[in-house]
Amino acid sequence: MQGWGSPPERNKMGMFDYVHFEMDCPKCGAPVKGFQSKDYICCMETVEPEAVQNFYASCRECKAWITFSRPRTEGSPLREKSLTLDEVTAMGFEMDVTPN
Ligand SMILES: [Zn+2]
Repeated sequence: MQGWGSPPERNKMGMFDYVHFEMDCPKCGAPVKGFQSKDYICCMETVEPEAVQNFYASCRECKAWITFSRPRTEGSPLREKSLTLDEVTAMGFEMDVTPN
C-alpha cells in the first residue's frame, strides 16, 4: 500500500550520510573509500569525521569491515582535503576491522 499521508521517516532503511575519509585497508592495503555514517542527518550528505561518532566502510578487495567510533562531540564544516588515518585516530576514533 502506498504511504499517502504518512510522514517521512528520518532514518529509513538504507539512508545514511557519506563521510569524507579514505584510507588503505589494514588487511590488504587496497584503498577504501565510501565511508558512511548514520549519526548525522542521513540525507546522503557528505560530512567530516568530526561531525559523527561512528562511521564505517567495507573493503572492496578483501571484504573486511572497517568501523571507527568515538565518544560524542560537536561537528564542523567540510575541509578541502580528507583527513589521514593518523589524524582521525588523533581525534579519538578507534578503528575496528572485522575480516569477512
Ligand atoms: Zn582489504
